[in-house]
Amino acid sequence: MGKKILLVDGDTQFCKLIVPVLEGRGHKVLQAESGARGDELLKTESLDLVIVSGAMPDGDAVEWINSLRISGNHIQVVFVGVSFQEVQAHKTKLENELGVSLSVHKPVIPFVFGAQVETQLSSDGQDNQSKKLKDFETMFLALVTKYSRVLPDKLRDLSSAIEKARANPQDRDLLAEVRGQAHKIKGTGGSLGFRQVGECMAFIEHAATTMHQKHEDEQNLLWSEVERKLIDAKSAGEQEAKDVAQVVSGKETEPEHAPSMARILVVDSDREFLDIVEELGKQRLVEIVRASSFNEAMDRACLLPLDAALINVAQEDPDESFKLARELRGLPGYETLPLAFISGNALIKDRVEAAHAGASLYLDKPLESDSLEKAVQHLVAIRQGGRPRVLICDDDEFFANTVALTLRNEGMVVRILLDPNKILDTMQDFPPDMLLLDVMMPDVTGFEVCRMLRQVPRWQDLPIIFLTGQTGVDARVEAFRSGGDDYLPKPVVNEELLTRVKVRLDRSRLLKERSDKDTITGLLLRRAFSEQLSGMIAEAQRTKLKFTVCLLDVDLFKKVNDSYGHLAGDRVLAGLGSLLARRFRVDDLRGRWGGEEFILAFRREAKETMHAAINRVLNEFKAIEFTGDHGEVFHVSFSGGMASFPEDGESVYELLQTADRRLYDSKKNGRSQITYTELTQTQTPTLA
Ligand code: GH3
Ligand code: MG
Ligand code: MG
Repeated sequence: MGKKILLVDGDTQFCKLIVPVLEGRGHKVLQAESGARGDELLKTESLDLVIVSGAMPDGDAVEWINSLRISGNHIQVVFVGVSFQEVQAHKTKLENELGVSLSVHKPVIPFVFGAQVETQLSSDGQDNQSKKLKDFETMFLALVTKYSRVLPDKLRDLSSAIEKARANPQDRDLLAEVRGQAHKIKGTGGSLGFRQVGECMAFIEHAATTMHQKHEDEQNLLWSEVERKLIDAKSAGEQEAKDVAQVVSGKETEPEHAPSMARILVVDSDREFLDIVEELGKQRLVEIVRASSFNEAMDRACLLPLDAALINVAQEDPDESFKLARELRGLPGYETLPLAFISGNALIKDRVEAAHAGASLYLDKPLESDSLEKAVQHLVAIRQGGRPRVLICDDDEFFANTVALTLRNEGMVVRILLDPNKILDTMQDFPPDMLLLDVMMPDVTGFEVCRMLRQVPRWQDLPIIFLTGQTGVDARVEAFRSGGDDYLPKPVVNEELLTRVKVRLDRSRLLKERSDKDTITGLLLRRAFSEQLSGMIAEAQRTKLKFTVCLLDVDLFKKVNDSYGHLAGDRVLAGLGSLLARRFRVDDLRGRWGGEEFILAFRREAKETMHAAINRVLNEFKAIEFTGDHGEVFHVSFSGGMASFPEDGESVYELLQTADRRLYDSKKNGRSQITYTELTQTQTPTLA
């Protein structure tokens, strides 16, 4: 919800920086250039927060806040001092006596400030939120600091490029080099808060673009202007770097705690083991939540949002662990919680039970040196599978890192690619939900990359946003013509970036959900399933790991429709769909193959294990009481056929053929069963 904010400040430059950031967050900002005007607005408007700057033309800002409080107004106040010293001098009074909730000093980094104000406004200004913000702020400042160190080198390189280009007026490549370098500094420097440097670079970039159209004397004039701007940029860069240093001073340059990537519940009565896992978690940036009993585990799960659970199977009572797994998954929001089990005596029966409860992994104790680590990684990866994946393709590492930081802070999984020539391989390896694409890159332009991607069927619907310093109409037209979805000018305002990225991601996810999923059963439709199944085959061929497919067909379904009505039939399909969705692992595939046929695919599992797990689902299904259109109660069963890669077939077609043949065998053999081997002649009953 947008809030109403009053900004009392005589410094128009500051307002220009801050207002767009606050408005970008959906707030309405009223500006008062003086304390007196501020007083008027306070009387007439209903406001949520006041930002008061030390630069008040008609009096002392601290005094102004004081009289505001004396008048009985308890509105939230943020104080922005003109210098570090000013804030230091008044901090105690402001915070303790005047109830000012945040006091910072200029220069501020606009969107860090925006985020700080946001935490003041959010009613749930919890520790979590502010810790997250603090980590983000610290990491961002670390990036800015690093950039301020390399900026002089970049300007020096630009200076020699300018010198060369000026000495060889005919050489268009040298001009292009100047333009490219200035363009990059503009984009990155500007985004990281080096505003004046960015402005100088915009001038130089433009000059280098238009230089060849000028007469010789005009060129000389323009070159002198360029050199002056370069000198301006150098001194502005030094000043802006100092400003940054001042903002950073007193703050750690490295985050105290890097934000954890995931929170995993570990359940084991062995405290020593919990210690080991906890230590490992620290190394992997995973927060480990400990529990040593069933009840403790359930309590923890209700208190803290979890990303995964790792459960020890107690030798004396294995069923307790599986029960815990099922109960966890029964909690709201945990229906697809990734699970792993650890056990000292893994009986095949336990493995079946684990698969049925939805375990992604089954680890044997004693653990091999890296298996626990791999398990944690795997669980995190499954979880991240649900998070939006964004690929940033930009040859400017600093810029890419800045954008990546912002997006990761919002929980997105981000990959950076500096070399656009490798984009297809990278997207194979890291299939993104969105691509942020730079336009000016060496060898190839972003427009060309976009055009190329749009010819690949798989990437035809991928949301692509251009990030570029080229802001002319031509560039914008070109962006859409080449198949881009949106266009963001560099330097990027983070709020705008986030809003656009999120809106696009939500929309494309919604469309995909709609086109991939069947409405009755909630499972994947045939086309989407087949696509993912092909991916699974490719993975299995690469990793030499097996996987299993299973076709299911509801028994005597025609009779269900005829006896209890079509709607009751639909309820049966929905019931089976929801049962299949709740059982098995998050990364297993479940689809509606058509009519009353379903299909499942399990990674890294042999059919023997999955056969038993599906049999249990069959028993659960048979126990469900369905109601007919006239209140009759009835039960339904299904039959199935399974096939495993590679022994039953090496292609999707072969595997499905085999599974289908075995499904037919199940039907012939009396239904309500799953077949996973060839029936021997004696077993095959002759059909009457
Ligand atoms: P079998 O055990 O040999 O599989 O017998 P069956 O009756 O299930 O097999 P059959 O393929 O003859 O009948 C399938 C029926 O499923 C026919 C069709 O009307 C019905 N059906 C297909 N899709 C739907 C649906 O979406 N909703 C409903 N209610 N019925 C459907
Ligand atoms: Mg059927
Ligand atoms: Mg059928």
